[in-house]
Amino acid sequence: MHALETAAVVTVGTELTIGHRLDTNGAEVARALVNAGYSVREMVSVPDDLQAIVAVLAELLSRRALVIVTGRLGPTHDDVTREAAALVVGRTLMRDPAIEAALSARVSVHRDPASAISLLHQADVIEGARVLPATTGTAPGQLIEYAGHTLVILPGPPHEMRPMLHDVLRDRVASAPPVTLKCVGITESDAGHAVLPLLTTYPTVDLTLLGGPGEVDVILVSTTGDDVELTAAAHAARTALGDACYSTDGSSLAATVIDMAIEREESLATAESCTGGLVAAALTDVPGSSQVFRGSVVAYANETKSAVLGVDPALIEAHGAVSEAVAVAMARGALRIPGATLAVATTGIAGPGGATPDKPLGTVWFAVAHAEGRTTAEMHRYGGDRTMVRDRARTTALDLLRRSMLDS
Ligand code: AMP
Ligand code: MG
Repeated sequence: MHALETAAVVTVGTELTIGHRLDTNGAEVARALVNAGYSVREMVSVPDDLQAIVAVLAELLSRRALVIVTGRLGPTHDDVTREAAALVVGRTLMRDPAIEAALSARVSVHRDPASAISLLHQADVIEGARVLPATTGTAPGQLIEYAGHTLVILPGPPHEMRPMLHDVLRDRVASAPPVTLKCVGITESDAGHAVLPLLTTYPTVDLTLLGGPGEVDVILVSTTGDDVELTAAAHAARTALGDACYSTDGSSLAATVIDMAIEREESLATAESCTGGLVAAALTDVPGSSQVFRGSVVAYANETKSAVLGVDPALIEAHGAVSEAVAVAMARGALRIPGATLAVATTGIAGPGGATPDKPLGTVWFAVAHAEGRTTAEMHRYGGDRTMVRDRARTTALDLLRRSMLDS
């Protein structure tokens, strides 16, 4: 196996480099390139500055098999990408009569004659370029072969760029697209320690770790396109990660919980205090969740915990609302929801107020109760602000549902 062909992505637009607009094209193009079997080595955003664009393109095109550029192919003064690309390959721009005619047909809608003339710049094609027709806008893209390298320029609006991008990459499929092992209940560094030593056996596989609130994505990337080796590495990594790994096909944690519940014929319910319905929201975000999700009680006030979930007020008095005993009683109470067989409860201190010396900010008690009688409870202590505590508590609650079904 050889090294993968290399590619670079350049997004042009001053709105990107002043932080006014998020560069979504860069990510979209990179993803498409990776799925087409390229190794993306650089992603660069450049302002609307002809010399800056020329410098970046010349440099990247000399090193990469393919450079894809998006943005600034329109009709206004800042649309300098076409000109920059022509300068880089040392060729002239020539007006394409067919494109010009098509654009002229639209000119009547432009009342200002000056703007009508500038619109026609979009018909300027670099000598020898393959034109990528505009199907959803006015500016065509162009593909230029130069000294054994390929330069592609595409319009900025994502809906105009997208069909041309897929046209350019149409015939290429990655032999070994990246594998993502989604994990929960494990730290980024523990995931790294579990997987990194294995990779000495698979030298063509690179590891990237992506941490989120309570979750870690373990991403394995082939540097050569060797599918056999990547698959073997993914298998070994999955074994090393054990129960922490919940999906390898991109499924979210909530979707995994829903799938497991369908498979095991469990019906889910939640009783939520500090998460205020976040767990239920995550579950109901999943299409098809109605098959297994029965409902939720957001029991914020102690009176609600007692009146709706049947939590004994004496229990709250004795242990406090944030306690193992109350979490368990809440989870059992959620099983009152008709049809529910498996319930999770959350009760904690999301902050900024409410902390006590023995129950600091970020303390959350969880319980899982099964209609057959099994219950488990555990306490977590999260750092971060209110939003982070609530997000992480949601993730833990989903994970406890998942783990309770793994055991069954
Ligand atoms: P342009 O053709 O470069 O003048 O861009 C036209 C519009 O396309 C911009 O106003 C943005 O809405 C969008 N656009 C351009 N570049 C990007 C990018 N890199 N990511 C997301 N949207 C973009
Ligand atoms: Mg523009």
